[in-house]
Amino acid sequence: MKVLVAIKRVIDYNVKIRVKSDETGVETTNVKMSMNPFDEIAVEEGVRLRENGSAEELIAVSIGPKQAQETIRTALAMGADRGIHVETDDEVEPLAVAKLLKALIEKENPDLVVLGKQAIDDDSNQTGQMLAALVGWSQGTFASELEVADGKAKVTREIDGGLETIQINMPAVVTTDLRLNTPRYASLPNIMKAKKKPIDESSPADLGVDISARLATLKVTEPSSREAGVIVEDVAELVDKLKNEAKVI
Ligand code: AMP
Repeated sequence: MKVLVAIKRVIDYNVKIRVKSDETGVETTNVKMSMNPFDEIAVEEGVRLRENGSAEELIAVSIGPKQAQETIRTALAMGADRGIHVETDDEVEPLAVAKLLKALIEKENPDLVVLGKQAIDDDSNQTGQMLAALVGWSQGTFASELEVADGKAKVTREIDGGLETIQINMPAVVTTDLRLNTPRYASLPNIMKAKKKPIDESSPADLGVDISARLATLKVTEPSSREAGVIVEDVAELVDKLKNEAKVI
C-alpha cells in the first residue's frame, strides 16, 4: 500500500496572531511557522502504517512557498520516505489544494491519502472532503482510530456526542482528528537522514491546475476585547444589574 499525506505550513499554534493594521489579513513576517498540528497527526499515522508493514511507501506533499520544504523535511525526519513540493507564493484555497492533490494522485496512484481535518490558519475543514469528491473515493473524516486491512479501512469518527465506526473501501481519503495519535518528535539522527531523502519539485502549472482565487477576503479583524467585570455587593444588586443593565432576566 502506498500512502500520501498532505501537510500545510501554517503559523505555529503557540504564536499570538496579530491582524495587519490595514485589515487585509494576519501578520506573517518574522512569525514562527510550523506544520499544521492535524497534519503532524496525519504523518504519524502514515509512519505507523509504514512501521507495522501495512504501507510500503509514505509520501509527504506540501503546497506553498519555498519554505514549505522545511515542513516536508520535518515529515521526512518523522519517517516519510520522500516528499513532493508544489511551489507557489500565492494563497491556495481548499478547492485548488484538492485539485492539486487529485493531479498528484493520478501520478502517484496511492491507496490512501491522509489529511488533517482542518488547517488551523483558515479553519476551512474542506480539502479532504473536496478531494474525495473530485477523485470519487470513499472518505472517513475526523478519524480518531484507523485500521487498514484487506482493501478496506475501518475508521472511528469523532461526532457530536460520541463515536461512529464506519468501514470504507480503499482507495480512500481519511482526515485526522486530535485523538488519533500523539505525533513523535524527530530524533537528531533521523533529522540528519531526512536531509538525504528526495523532494520532488513542481508547480501548479506543471500539474495543469489553475489555482486562481475564487474568494475575496473583505476584511480580517481582531475579536472584540472583553470588558472588565464588576464585583457586586449582594444578590439584590446582582439581580438588579441582570434585570436593568444586562436585561437578561
Ligand atoms: P483545510 O480544508 O484548509 O482546513 O485543510 C485541511 C487539510 O488539507 C490540512 O490539514 C492539510 O492536510 C491539507 N492541506 C490544506 N492546505 C494544504 C497545503 N497548502 N499543502 C498541503 N496540504 C494542505
